Amino acid sequence: MKVPFVDLVSQYQGIRNQILPVIENIMGNAQFIMGEDVTLFEQEFAEFCTTKFAIGVDSGTSALELALRAFDIGTGDEVITVANTFIATALAISSTGATPVLVDINPETYNIDVEKIEGAISEQTRVIMPVHLYGQPADMDAILAIAKEHNLLVIEDACQAHGAKYRNLSVGSIGHAAAFSFYPGKNLGAFGDGGMVVTNDPQIADKLKLLRDYGQKEKYHHLIKGYNRRLDTLQAGVLRTKLRYLNEWNESRRRHASRYNELLQDSKATLPVNADFAEYVYHLFVIRIQHRNEILTYLQQNGISVGIHYPIPIHLQPAYADLGYQEGDFPVTEQYANEILSLPMFPELNDDQINYVTSILKEFK
Ligand SMILES: *Cc1c(COP(=O)(O)O)cnc(C)c1O
Repeated sequence: MKVPFVDLVSQYQGIRNQILPVIENIMGNAQFIMGEDVTLFEQEFAEFCTTKFAIGVDSGTSALELALRAFDIGTGDEVITVANTFIATALAISSTGATPVLVDINPETYNIDVEKIEGAISEQTRVIMPVHLYGQPADMDAILAIAKEHNLLVIEDACQAHGAKYRNLSVGSIGHAAAFSFYPGKNLGAFGDGGMVVTNDPQIADKLKLLRDYGQKEKYHHLIKGYNRRLDTLQAGVLRTKLRYLNEWNESRRRHASRYNELLQDSKATLPVNADFAEYVYHLFVIRIQHRNEILTYLQQNGISVGIHYPIPIHLQPAYADLGYQEGDFPVTEQYANEILSLPMFPELNDDQINYVTSILKEFK
């Protein structure tokens, strides 16, 4: 049996009849840039996140970067984030000129350890950027309390958490702004790159609209030095169609996660902990296990695609040597980087595939 890590082909087959007329329509009227579907998708996605505004951009990385820029974050500022995340979180921060300041993870949730945030705050700190990693919200109440006390902004990296909830609040609606990615493999994925910033702040929303579109509100009248970071109309059309399925798809992911949990209960794997405040959307299903590299190879030899998210923490990446961190600075992140293993997880996964993955995993000696 072969089990892919994600299966975008079978997802497409399931919605082909809905998607093709949407694409045909956009091709037919040729409104490729800032067409009607962009505005409609922004309205629908804002509603989905229960925020007032949503601003479509060309990637999740751009969404993070432009959210920071909209608040005038740049050179001389520090942004606190987590050592265990995808590189894009840090790249977005450093591309504004600001410095990423890292914090270790909570050993249970693998998200930012809220106990360690205050120790990372300096005179230069302006923002806390929690990441809702693997689809589980970070502990937002604690983060908001620290931010309030120190007069900091909170910008959520929700790139892995479309539809997740923190104590019944949709992720993206909790901080001052939030960024989403529509990279194809995300819970809501385009047919290429795409992203979104959501916020309740009308001034920030206006600034984001300028930033993504050459700094113009009116064609050829450039109010600020902006960028070309718009969301394509074609991607917006695809995403509008897929958004209608997102809750159902997230429900399937949760069902698969509980089946994995049930079948792996008697295994040597440490299973993901669903925090009591979290409605987890399982972008990834991440276990920890000893002899991880050998097990990874064994699964691959048996036709199972797996991943590691992420094998090298941010502070040990050559790209961030300039931050001056050392091995040993974030011990939980470093230990987990050697033990984590992401099992196949996508809505169309079936019980036979989960049975197969878990039985191969358990038979490894
Ligand atoms: C995917 C991702 C991003 C970046 O999104 P892109 O659309 O690939 O630019 C940022 N942060 C996290 C945590 C992600 O998983």
